[in-house]
Amino acid sequence: MKDQLQALEKEALQKVEDASSLKELQDVRVAYLGKKGPITEVLKGMGKLSKEERPVIGELANKVRGQVAEAIDSKKAGIEAAELEKQLAEETIDVTLPGRPVPTGGPHLLTSIVEEIEDLFIGMGFEVREGPEVETDYYNFEALNLPKGHPARDMQDSFYITDDILLRTHTSPVQARTMNMIKGERPVKMICPGKVYRRDTDDATHSHQFTQIEGLYVDKHVRMSDLKGVLDRFAKQMFGEDREIRLRPSFFPFTEPSVEMDISCKVCNGKGCSVCKKTGWIEILGAGMVHPRVLEMAGYDPKEYSGFAFGMGPERIAMLKYGVDDIRHFYTNDIRFLKQYHQA
Ligand SMILES: [Zn+2]
Repeated sequence: MKDQLQALEKEALQKVEDASSLKELQDVRVAYLGKKGPITEVLKGMGKLSKEERPVIGELANKVRGQVAEAIDSKKAGIEAAELEKQLAEETIDVTLPGRPVPTGGPHLLTSIVEEIEDLFIGMGFEVREGPEVETDYYNFEALNLPKGHPARDMQDSFYITDDILLRTHTSPVQARTMNMIKGERPVKMICPGKVYRRDTDDATHSHQFTQIEGLYVDKHVRMSDLKGVLDRFAKQMFGEDREIRLRPSFFPFTEPSVEMDISCKVCNGKGCSVCKKTGWIEILGAGMVHPRVLEMAGYDPKEYSGFAFGMGPERIAMLKYGVDDIRHFYTNDIRFLKQYHQA
């Protein structure tokens, strides 16, 4: 039995020596030290031995076990170290290689133009206000002098959710809400940028969702010349100090009188070209003096207070300023388009 154990030890140690991978080493461990291994088998037969032999063989068996286990552990450490070495050699880092550039994003053109317009009006003392995109019929129409049945609130133009709730068709309800909150107690000077929705077929110049920035200034003694001054400053700061503006009579239910504002064409300098359709002027926005009825509904005394309002589409401003030829470019998020307007 002693010889048998010694032979097993020799055989096992040789196999450990020959093992070249962790997998082979594990196989050796299972084969020799496992529950069904030959050493366990020998120990099972110990019952048949004499009283004197038993401790001797027991001790030897344990020693063999210990030595085989120790050999496996040390071989394992060796194989692991070799594998690590190999891996390190294969994955050498070349510290001289240039770094990979991390692409940085930038604001969307529409975001930039809205912020630019906001900054411009903040500089003239306007505050920025926001309101809900899902609006009540009252704030979207009624409070703005558009009673039920008014032709300008044709069902075709609006996304109604219920009879009384709709997606706002302009940002004017924010003005109505703000005036309503102030209850005619103090002046208001605000702009409201935001998304608006109209039932429209999308094409190069139309979109069912677009952006609007409206402005409102209500105070004592606000005159049409104040409106003209503010719009003139806006046009010059946005499109260049050499731009001229002109106001043409127009109609909006919530202003009286109402005007459309044009700026002189930058391309032809007023001589007439394809951009300005040979007129020398380009239409930019609508404006007017707040209708006394609107002031009254908001709680202002129209005999004491007056005001002006204006509204523009930032997409149109950006299209004119940067020569964008299709409004859909603002919403399709084509990175090649957007990247052109990222400032470094
Ligand atoms: Zn022109």
